Amino acid sequence: MQLTVLVDNNSNVAHFLCAEPALSFCIEDGYRKILFDCGYSDAFIKNAYQLGIDLSDVTDIVLSHGHIDHTGGLGRLQSLYLKISRVGFPICVKRITAHPNIMHQLEDDSLANKSLPQLCDLFETSFTAHPRYLTDNILFLGEIPVTDKTRYRHRDDSSLVYTSESGLVIISGCSHSGLINIAEYAKKVANDNRIRAIIGGIYIGNNHENDIKEIGEYLRNENVECIYPCHCCDLDTKLLLSRYVPVKDVYSGLAITF
Ligand SMILES: [Zn+2]
Ligand SMILES: [Zn+2]
Repeated sequence: MQLTVLVDNNSNVAHFLCAEPALSFCIEDGYRKILFDCGYSDAFIKNAYQLGIDLSDVTDIVLSHGHIDHTGGLGRLQSLYLKISRVGFPICVKRITAHPNIMHQLEDDSLANKSLPQLCDLFETSFTAHPRYLTDNILFLGEIPVTDKTRYRHRDDSSLVYTSESGLVIISGCSHSGLINIAEYAKKVANDNRIRAIIGGIYIGNNHENDIKEIGEYLRNENVECIYPCHCCDLDTKLLLSRYVPVKDVYSGLAITF
């Protein structure tokens, strides 16, 4: 499986790609090409073009949750597909996989994308709160069991898991459900106790230092090979986590083969 970061908060001089406070990954596994989140603007489309990644043959779109920094680019993607089909190229039907609550964004959530129902209407949708394999090795987790009440308001948050031969690779948007909750559920659903790596945003609540310590100790105990914290994960969090587990840099254009 190859994962390419189409857009992240971070960029570097090796690529000169756009960065924005948002997230989008392209995941290629066999003949399937999965777009995981769509960023905030059309930056992910511009970056994909620069990287030589063709978005016209994306087979699946997965939305980690409904926040605008993960779904704002969906309309731009639809415009791109309309433009391509107008010049005569056939576009296969794109299926959106997400948690069904993504269609019911909370009124008091300042990052909610209220246009999502209209945007999703333009695609085929496959919403599920249950775990579902998108390919032989890529699993959409659906609803992640959360016991911590402070995380309840992000009830549409989900993640992908790649089941590699040497353990699980967790691919997350913002980890609003809590990284440990996600990792424990991934282990249970995939029936594998080995967490190999984690890539994505790691959202930390108000209880900053205690939460990071708990996550760090958990990752160390689980013998996680390395993590790629990005997007909503700030430098302080990355530095603190690096005391427990190897931390890798992430930026628009980074490609990792798992
Ligand atoms: Zn979010
Ligand atoms: Zn986010």
